[in-house]
Amino acid sequence: MTFEHHPLPTRRRTDDTQDLGPRSRPQRRWWDRGSRDGGRHTALLGLVSPGTVTLGVAVRTVREVDGGTEVQLPDGTVHAGGVLVGADGVHSVVRGHVAPRRRARPSILAPSSWRFVATDPGVDCWVAWTGPAGTVLLIPMVPGRVYGWVSGRDETTDFARTRALFRGFPEVVRTALAAAEESQDPPLHSPLEEINPAVWTTGRVVLVGDAAHASAPVWAQGAALAVEDGLALAEVLQDRDAWDRAGLEFARRRRARVEHVQAATDRFSRTARLPAWLRSVVAPLVGPPSYRAAYGPLREPAGRPEPPVAP
Ligand SMILES: Cc1cc2nc3c(=O)[nH]c(=O)nc-3n(C[C@H](O)[C@H](O)[C@H](O)COP(=O)(O)OP(=O)(O)OC[C@H]3O[C@@H](n4cnc5c(N)ncnc54)[C@H](O)[C@@H]3O)c2cc1C
Repeated sequence: MTFEHHPLPTRRRTDDTQDLGPRSRPQRRWWDRGSRDGGRHTALLGLVSPGTVTLGVAVRTVREVDGGTEVQLPDGTVHAGGVLVGADGVHSVVRGHVAPRRRARPSILAPSSWRFVATDPGVDCWVAWTGPAGTVLLIPMVPGRVYGWVSGRDETTDFARTRALFRGFPEVVRTALAAAEESQDPPLHSPLEEINPAVWTTGRVVLVGDAAHASAPVWAQGAALAVEDGLALAEVLQDRDAWDRAGLEFARRRRARVEHVQAATDRFSRTARLPAWLRSVVAPLVGPPSYRAAYGPLREPAGRPEPPVAP
């Protein structure tokens, strides 16, 4: 692992629609084409029985009914079930039912970023370069290919402008960004948003993953937490007689781990936004202990039921 500071300028913001369509279509295309070296969205879909997942349909409204829940689709169709799991991401419609006043906000780290997969410019481990212009992270994937993450100072949806910010960065960074821009699978503009409502459940509706606790991708835990949520909830739902309390029991099992990741993310994000001269002094001192403090507790298996709180 390498972390390099670079003496240049940083910061930016973005906005994005909450509409499922424009937001999810580029993502789906990217995961199928742009990330052709990694796991593909369509390959994951192949793991479930045909007909289990319906794509391109957005839940519009949520309703609790006696002994269950109902969702309505844009064409008016109503689907009913025993428990509704809101796994609908950072702009969750289901969260509008559970915690109507809570909306995602730009992350403390930076409001947006870019992701890409490109020709490896010559990195043999994951490397991050940071400076006032922003941050570039490169992670080797399969031989000859890297995954890149870029967060730059300007608020723009034009990658060329972001790339220009890094003109003064080392050649390996410039080569990677040029390869990303020229790639037939262009970089994916990725807003960074956070949410942490105090309540994840009401009745038989429960939020999981980013819908409940989206965080900036500082510790690369978003997907892990979402998968762990799924496992924990599956365990809780095994007892059909306890479905009325399933959401509460799920939250009781998961809160501490999620809050640990969010607190570590906030600490890192604040450090990253210090003035460059101060960050250069502070980061080498707090970096290693922060790393241990963030990941140490996560080495414990997730979803282990915590002892019930005494009444
Ligand atoms: C730039 C960036 C880099 C990241 N890097 C990492 C990383 O390195 N490691 C990591 O673990 N995490 C990372 N994350 C976080 C990770 O992507 C998320 O935490 C994870 O995808 C959350 O999964 P989820 O299933 O809860 O939500 P999502 O992946 O957002 O899935 C939600 C799904 O719900 C669908 N949906 C939305 N609204 C509706 C609706 N009304 N009706 C029906 N369906 C709907 C969406 O189309 C989507 O398919 C990163 C995030 C960003 C932005």
